[in-house]
Amino acid sequence: MLKKTSHFMREANFIGGAWVGADTGATIDVVNPATRQTIGTVPKCGRAETRRAIKAAEEAFHSWKKTSANDRAKLLRKLHDAIMDNQEALAELLVMEQGKPLAEARGEVGMSAAYVLWYAEEGRRTYGDVVPSPWADRRILVTKEPVGVIGAITPWNFPSSMLARKLGPALAAGCTAVAKPASQTPYSGLAWGVLAEEAGFPAGVVNIVTGSASEIGDELTENPLVRKITFTGSTEVGKTLIRKSAGTVKKVSMELGGNAPFLVFDDADLERAVAGAVAAKYRNSGQTCVCTNRFFVQEGVYDRFVEKLVEATERLKVGSGLEEGTQQGPLIDEKAVEKVEELVADAAEKGGKVVAGGKRHSLGGTFFEPTVIAEASPEMRFMQEEIFGPVSPIFRFNNEEEAVRLANDTAFGLACYFYTADLGRAFRVMEGLRYGLIGVNEGIITTVEAPFGGLKESGLGKEGGHQGIEDYLDTKYVCIGGLGL
Ligand code: NAP
Repeated sequence: MLKKTSHFMREANFIGGAWVGADTGATIDVVNPATRQTIGTVPKCGRAETRRAIKAAEEAFHSWKKTSANDRAKLLRKLHDAIMDNQEALAELLVMEQGKPLAEARGEVGMSAAYVLWYAEEGRRTYGDVVPSPWADRRILVTKEPVGVIGAITPWNFPSSMLARKLGPALAAGCTAVAKPASQTPYSGLAWGVLAEEAGFPAGVVNIVTGSASEIGDELTENPLVRKITFTGSTEVGKTLIRKSAGTVKKVSMELGGNAPFLVFDDADLERAVAGAVAAKYRNSGQTCVCTNRFFVQEGVYDRFVEKLVEATERLKVGSGLEEGTQQGPLIDEKAVEKVEELVADAAEKGGKVVAGGKRHSLGGTFFEPTVIAEASPEMRFMQEEIFGPVSPIFRFNNEEEAVRLANDTAFGLACYFYTADLGRAFRVMEGLRYGLIGVNEGIITTVEAPFGGLKESGLGKEGGHQGIEDYLDTKYVCIGGLGL
């Protein structure tokens, strides 16, 4: 049934099947980044409420884990349908708190539903093994079982789909969850509580708490009832959560920061490379972990690539995400704009040429002009730092070896892209790049069917694909002896 946006905008937390406020009554304001106006509040919860949510999830786990994968799949399919029936309302809610263009928000909500549907099916295929026994009178079974209660912490840049990639496999596997959405975009997270309730998930299977990141994070990581932490966000916070999870030896999955290189070789199809560059850079105003952070372009096509990227960048329509035709919305907050300004100033000081944009947009607030910086060099800060804004620094390179070396010169290893028409080079470069996600002649590659995740300091574990459910399962080995065979 179709519902209004306001139906999903809950100003309460979802704990043990009830909608509740913080014990203290404290709240957090939620601001629309396009208008800078407060659109509502959500509870500012802490350790005590989180502990209750964990207890509710633990109680629900005892019966939820005993349901059949088929029954869980039926509920997940209902959840999928509820999301798609309300795609427009959920997309509008996402735009209001996050700022991205409505078309991108619709895409994100559709992706959320797709993850749920994928894991409804994958949950039915969590096969174990019957292993040939070295003993004549014993048999060996290997089984997969849900890990238990999971704690999920998500960021503001994809407030709906980052939760889908965690709740989908967790619920399908038979786990129960306590989720903490980002404070800047809590409504898209709380909407999962509304949807789960309406789809008919039992009380306590899905719990959503908002509030103090450190208090909720400390309870989730220290409470022994939580058996797994799944986190998407910055590398800095991810490292803290790994350290804190060590105390109770929890499983951890970490989807952390990136520093994506985008390589264009002399033999590339330049039109295709520019179209891919725009998609891989300016989506969500450059605020995605897989957004290109550094363009490396070979000498022979450098000037032409810069010229074409400038043309394409200057055509982008900046505005409120709810306005028809908007391709780039505001940045999430003032701090994000200041960081982008600092990086542009650093580049200009070190010889970079601002050839498009370069400053705050005339729309004011946190809007920033889509920007291109030519003659970028390795001593500039964006060689190592995530920009998280609409800025394209373009470096030159001479040969393949140099390009791969520069691309790998970072602690991160999430996404990368390269454009070439040479099949041999495609394999050499693909095998040389130390990244978890590689687009060859493609700028947008995320799909529910494939494993998403980084190498090095970009993370641990995979989300999506058949791999994405593994982290929610424990493997048990059972030896059955005395069979008298
Ligand atoms: P963030 O500051 O790390 O925050 C992410 C989440 O962690 C938020 O819910 C935040 O809560 C919470 N948090 C902050 N400090 C915490 C603590 N001490 N203990 C427990 N939780 C804590 O990241 P962000 O700025 O929201 O997101 C941007 C980052 O996410 C970028 O680095 C981006 O690359 C990365 N990212 C990675 C992927 C991926 O799949 N690899 C996808 C998307 C984004 P509050 O909001 O309440 O502070």
